[in-house]
Amino acid sequence: MEKRVIKKDALAGIIKNISNDMLVYAPVQDEDNVLFKVLEPGMEPLVEYANTKNAPKNFFFPQTETMMKYFRTERGRELAEVVEDAADAVLFGVRPCYARSFVLLDNIFDDPKYKDSYYIARREKTVIVSLACVHPPYTTCFCTSVGGHPMSLEGSDVVLTDLGDVYLAEFLTPKGEKLIEKMGNLEAADEALDAKKQELSDTAEKEIKSHIPANDIKPWLDENFENPFWDTIHRSCLACGTCTYLCPTCHCFDITDEVKGEEGRRIRTWDSCMSWLFTMETSGHNPRTSQKERWRQRLMHKFKYFVDNFGAVACVGCGRCVINCPVNIDIRKIVTDISKL
Ligand code: SF4
Ligand code: SF4
Repeated sequence: MEKRVIKKDALAGIIKNISNDMLVYAPVQDEDNVLFKVLEPGMEPLVEYANTKNAPKNFFFPQTETMMKYFRTERGRELAEVVEDAADAVLFGVRPCYARSFVLLDNIFDDPKYKDSYYIARREKTVIVSLACVHPPYTTCFCTSVGGHPMSLEGSDVVLTDLGDVYLAEFLTPKGEKLIEKMGNLEAADEALDAKKQELSDTAEKEIKSHIPANDIKPWLDENFENPFWDTIHRSCLACGTCTYLCPTCHCFDITDEVKGEEGRRIRTWDSCMSWLFTMETSGHNPRTSQKERWRQRLMHKFKYFVDNFGAVACVGCGRCVINCPVNIDIRKIVTDISKL
């Protein structure tokens, strides 16, 4: 693994330089929010920020995308697949929990049996550069309860750790190493910096204040599809979908056709299991009759079905659903309550 040192005040300039010849997605200030956006000329990437409002999953799995186009000809209907020519890109400034979310999403979109060419094309061309959480930003962070760590390397190509006056840059993958030459002359890092990083890592872990028994509830979920507990969590839910749209690991989508005259396109769009329409069948029958069934599905999918299928819970502990739910439904409390049953 290659390691280099980046001066603190040089990092934003380095990222802007890279954006001259590669697509760069970075956190930027947008009114009251910090959002991941494509870095356009004149835009300033944030290197000091707590966390972003949006999770960066949309760069590999956009909110809406065209899958294919079709048109009517004299020979009948013809299809034209839309194959995007993905550009070389850098996704800069993701937190370690998001980097880990891509490892979980790969199970869905890059499975040996089901290859999602749209997701894979962008994913393969993108270098993920993470900023380690030397100080986990929120009391709602619980990454250590779900297999993560505030300074985890999992899922990143490059990890930057703020050591005070410099960043330690660790280039973890061949894709990450290709960025070294684009970053200018960087000093090699000496071993003393590793020791400093380890100290910070231990402190960062202790700064995580929220702990939940996420790995203990599966046996209960396995046995309790029908349990009065499910009547207790959904009552205040507005079905707004905020928790699913902002979640870095939620990945459900709908596929619809839009037709105009002799032409049409097939699009896929993010969908949410919190919506009653999500399971509405053409006949009008809806197997999930109330928000109770929808909330049970959300919990079951993250803490049982995903574990059954892929061996990990589908939550990276970012706390975003906790912070942004308009009625304060807290997934940490639900998991903790289940663990006591
Ligand atoms: S804390 Fe909430 S938003 Fe974050 S990964 Fe877990 S379920 Fe998704
Ligand atoms: S954010 Fe809260 S209110 Fe909205 S769907 Fe999720 S749990 Fe329900």
